[in-house]
Amino acid sequence: MTLSTYFMEATYLIASILFVFALKGMSHPETARRGMFLAEGGMLAAIIGTLIGAHIVTWVWIIAGLSIGSIIGAWMAIWVPMTAMPQRTALSHAFGALAAALVGVGEFLVHANDMPSITRWALGFEVMLGALTTTGSLIAAGKLQGVIHGKPIQFKGQNVVNALIFLTMATSFFIFIAHPEKVAVFYIMLGLAFVFGVMLVIPIGSADMPVVMSLLNSYAGLAAAATGFVLGNNVLIIAGTLDGFSGFILSVLMCKAMNRSITNVLFGGFGAVIAGATTDAGGVMREISLDDAAMQLAFASRVIFVPGYGLATAQAQHAVRELAELLEGRGVTVKYAIHPVAGRMPGHMNVLLAEANVPYSSLYEMEQINPEFPSTDVAVVIGANDVVNPDARDNPKSLIAGMPILEVDRAKSVIVLKRGQGRGFSGLENPLFFKSCTSMLYGDAKSSLSHLAQAVQHV
Ligand code: NAP
Repeated sequence: MTLSTYFMEATYLIASILFVFALKGMSHPETARRGMFLAEGGMLAAIIGTLIGAHIVTWVWIIAGLSIGSIIGAWMAIWVPMTAMPQRTALSHAFGALAAALVGVGEFLVHANDMPSITRWALGFEVMLGALTTTGSLIAAGKLQGVIHGKPIQFKGQNVVNALIFLTMATSFFIFIAHPEKVAVFYIMLGLAFVFGVMLVIPIGSADMPVVMSLLNSYAGLAAAATGFVLGNNVLIIAGTLDGFSGFILSVLMCKAMNRSITNVLFGGFGAVIAGATTDAGGVMREISLDDAAMQLAFASRVIFVPGYGLATAQAQHAVRELAELLEGRGVTVKYAIHPVAGRMPGHMNVLLAEANVPYSSLYEMEQINPEFPSTDVAVVIGANDVVNPDARDNPKSLIAGMPILEVDRAKSVIVLKRGQGRGFSGLENPLFFKSCTSMLYGDAKSSLSHLAQAVQHV
């Protein structure tokens, strides 16, 4: 081994260690930022090590790739709003997976006939997973952005068609392993994998897209790990495996938080059959004036804020912190209740509130806070809907029956901040809004919170 190869392997080791610590850091909101820095450091170490240690055929392509990638990455980081983060993440998966698939095609063109059979297995997996993750992630991004219809796209015989595509793709894979000289078979496998990615994601509704993305993240990681085997690159094997399994664990956790199984998410067509679901919701929604809401808050002794997707769209995280500080200044005990799938991506609320410097000690997870609602004077629901829908608990016929919820309806009084009669992501009516303890404060969450803060100051 040359000195530069030693250097490369050392940077790979450092990068792998940094990735492990990064994951550890990201497991807690307080250390998540540090985790991200560690991950960035690891990635930088891996890139520098590769540039110094690997055999570079031409710098032109490397510099072109680095420049284009950096420009697109910086553009996405600066301009994409927080609310569009899920589709941005889906695009990143598509890029990563496409890179893995293309590296696989490159390796096939150069080495297919002189590669050991075990490496051909890895190459086949890399190309298949990479290709299907690319198109799957693009469809997921399109659905989340609203470019493609968010409802599940289903047709008669869909499962048969999908099974046929899968079987033909798998058969091509095995023929490729046995006969790498059959170039056409390799490209059939590649083409079918691209098609399979589309077929896999179109029958899934956009409400389930975050889970799908986390699964696709897992596939992209495994494709990268397979790339590592093909190239004999240790850092890719380690990082890809970490990515693959953390994505899978996240998918399982999200399904658990929605009381759904992975198979139900992938094949259930959630959102397609809302007509079959029923709710007892009815009656009138009682509106509350800004001054009355401010009075309730100012004279309460315990208040719980319940943020949801509307807080994210309104970018109301700073406004809620300001109101909370005012109330605390008056001696009110303020807590924040965080539902695991509030918003549109895991940790969405934690990230937003941390950005506004809400102390982490004020955030409470669902299991911790639910017993506290009965002794709470006012629960303020800020742009949350599905995660506070009591039908999930009380109505076995509901489409979201069994999904654990924040039990705000058990508080003495509930004030709901939303713009109008809009429904949550599931599209279901919410009986909470018709309960006698609930009153509605209509308007954009940010402006409602700012006006409430002003009104509280005058109480
Ligand atoms: P939600 O059910 O989607 O409800 C959001 C509510 O916010 C809407 O009813 C809307 O009503 C209101 N709203 C929108 N913009 C607003 C604004 N500017 N100001 C005030 N209110 C506004 O949100 P959620 O309760 O957070 O539930 C999340 C949903 O996403 C769940 O169904 C969950 O299962 C799903 N999901 C989340 C994840 C995840 O990882 N977080 C993953 C998978 C699925 P108006 O239009 O009337 O204002």
